[in-house]
Amino acid sequence: MAFVFPPPTAPSVEIKSRGERFPVHRIYCVGQNYAAHAREMGSDPERERPCFFTKPADAIVANHAEMPYPPRTANLHHEIELVVAIGKGGSDISMAHALEHVFGYAVGNDLTRRDLQSNARERGHPWDTAKGFVRSAPISAITPTALCGHLRRGRIWLNVNDQPRQDADLSDLIWSVPEIISELSAFFELLPGDLIYTGTPAGVGPIQRGDRLEGGIDGLGTLVTTIV
Ligand code: MN
Repeated sequence: MAFVFPPPTAPSVEIKSRGERFPVHRIYCVGQNYAAHAREMGSDPERERPCFFTKPADAIVANHAEMPYPPRTANLHHEIELVVAIGKGGSDISMAHALEHVFGYAVGNDLTRRDLQSNARERGHPWDTAKGFVRSAPISAITPTALCGHLRRGRIWLNVNDQPRQDADLSDLIWSVPEIISELSAFFELLPGDLIYTGTPAGVGPIQRGDRLEGGIDGLGTLVTTIV
């Protein structure tokens, strides 16, 4: 088939201990999935169910890359998150079978223009400009489940310039990975290549040009991003 111009290269993520790469189809994200973070954002985790939003697939940023400070914000925030990489698609996936759809896990950062998000929340506007901007989704190499199993607990943390900002445990997730996959697949048909950023624990805060972000999850290694 002929194209009027060359189609963009498919975004992809490194896979630990494998030569092949993981081609990214879509990026889904879960909002307010840790109680302490929901409270710091002014919500009541007892009453409100987590929401879903998306980022473009080409928003991914490789581990150890430099990330230019984005335009139109004075309040860029870090959000360290467990990322689920989907290897088998499906709709209306049951919780009992949800983990069969997982290819692996990674460490991700759901970078957020918090000032734009606060404005959107107040006005009932969409979150796209706050969440779906260029290079808004740093991600580590994906660890296949064959190497790490399924992660139900373990430390999740983020330091900025070696100062601790976020430190929690995956067992604090309000919605577990099987619940997220089951619920999300009722809204969207999941396909191989989908990534799900599962929400961030408390401690989100602003980052500046020159900051070095290092975050990690037990069993998955670390994610390093420098803001330039
Ligand atoms: Mn998030």
